[in-house]
Amino acid sequence: MSDLNSVFQTQKRAFDAMPNSDWAYRKANLKKLGAAIKAHEEDFQRTISEDFGNRSYVETTLAEVMVIQGGISHALKHTPKWMHTRKAPTAMQFKPGSNKIVPQPLGVVGIISPWNYPLQLAVMPLIAALGAGNRVMIKPSEYTPKFSDMLKKVLGEIFSDDEVHVAVGGVEVAQEFSSLPFDHLLFTGSTNVGRIVAQAAAKNLTPVTLELGGKSPTIIDESADMATTVARIANGKLLNAGQTCVAPDYVLMPSSKIDSFADAMIKQAETFYPEVAGNEQYTSIIADNHYARLQGLLEDAENKGATLRTAGDDDKQQLAKERRIPLTVVTDTTPDMKIMQEEIFGPLLPVVPSESLDDALDYVQKRERPLALYWFGKNKKKENRVLNESISGGVSVNDVAWHVIQEDIPFGGVGPSGMGAYHGEAGFNTFSHLKGVFTQSRFSQGKMLHPPYGPKTEKMLNLMKKIM
Ligand code: NAD
Repeated sequence: MSDLNSVFQTQKRAFDAMPNSDWAYRKANLKKLGAAIKAHEEDFQRTISEDFGNRSYVETTLAEVMVIQGGISHALKHTPKWMHTRKAPTAMQFKPGSNKIVPQPLGVVGIISPWNYPLQLAVMPLIAALGAGNRVMIKPSEYTPKFSDMLKKVLGEIFSDDEVHVAVGGVEVAQEFSSLPFDHLLFTGSTNVGRIVAQAAAKNLTPVTLELGGKSPTIIDESADMATTVARIANGKLLNAGQTCVAPDYVLMPSSKIDSFADAMIKQAETFYPEVAGNEQYTSIIADNHYARLQGLLEDAENKGATLRTAGDDDKQQLAKERRIPLTVVTDTTPDMKIMQEEIFGPLLPVVPSESLDDALDYVQKRERPLALYWFGKNKKKENRVLNESISGGVSVNDVAWHVIQEDIPFGGVGPSGMGAYHGEAGFNTFSHLKGVFTQSRFSQGKMLHPPYGPKTEKMLNLMKKIM
């Protein structure tokens, strides 16, 4: 038996010995998880930054540690209610019998996480899985090896291996991991690998939650306040140097305003980051292959007639050495450009002319359903049209990405951007079996339906038809 399989079997046995842990146990798990993340905040800041080349410490605190602390506080407050047997209505013809829903842990669950927010995207699903009473195995990304070792060390200090296990290693480990017969598997990563993981899980009929990527559009309406819009988009796009699954991928706006928008974006980026080279607050691109991919997108766009505007005037060689790319706004785009076809995942922002809301919605609807969609404007009618007529995993109105850190709403994709959801109660439900239970009454009319069927049965059936 391989090491991973043996950990899996050990967790299975531990789960079977305590198949429905009580709140005291789950609360203790969530509390020690929160305390450990807090105690090791600097270790995570440092290791993630080393893995990236440079990752702003503030970003690690803001977009990882604080999101986790928010998730834990929310889970501590609400899980007892979510764990409770839930009331369910009972249709008249089945009364006085009664229905209820009993949430149960699933067993041993797997979490596969990506490199871009390595701490948040491993630990947020962990919070949901532990709150729901499961044993958990985690496979973090091979792109962040120092972080992954730290996560293994930190979680190993507070959990036994039969509670939470971190499996470090490359793609071979990920492949073996995804072939384990988990009771649920939550994968966060690219759509391509998501497909492979879903196929591996299907062999075991393991249910999957897929948190994938895609091209998230931003629609700017004429009624939007331009200065605020520019500042919010620049902030959301440049966080983690654009390596964010819900970063605004491209902008749709009226052509008459594109030039002034593009200039304002560049100015805003230069205000946020007066220099990019050597700036500890500006995150590097994770690896050489991703850096080359992003440069390739720019070259391809330029060769096909796009206009590029780049923030700042840093030395290009120095930028390349540090794998840093300043905000680059790409205008005069055409659909045949690669930048308009694949998820960008970097600080490049193409703009597409769109003269009306109909145009913008048509553009979005004709493409794969995105993970996020953003709309900027003051016109409520148009806002409602956007919400009703577009399909995306989630939406932020008049800002970008904020919907992701709300624990009171589900987070997940739709179609090629994912399936299933987590965060808050959605996460608890994802990692639980919601068991439907019907309790029959002493006075059940069921015996009137027993064979042999005759006139009494007919009477009963007629009565039931009337009240149904
Ligand atoms: P990726 O798909 O390359 O890797 C994700 C994980 O899958 C890693 O842990 C990796 O080890 C594992 N993996 C790789 N090959 C595998 C295989 N054959 N079988 C099983 N597992 C395998 O993604 P990435 O580059 O780490 O992350 C970037 C992508 O993730 C982007 O597309 C982004 O949009 C998406 N993403 C989505 C969310 C979300 O919440 N929806 C969040 C962050 C990132």
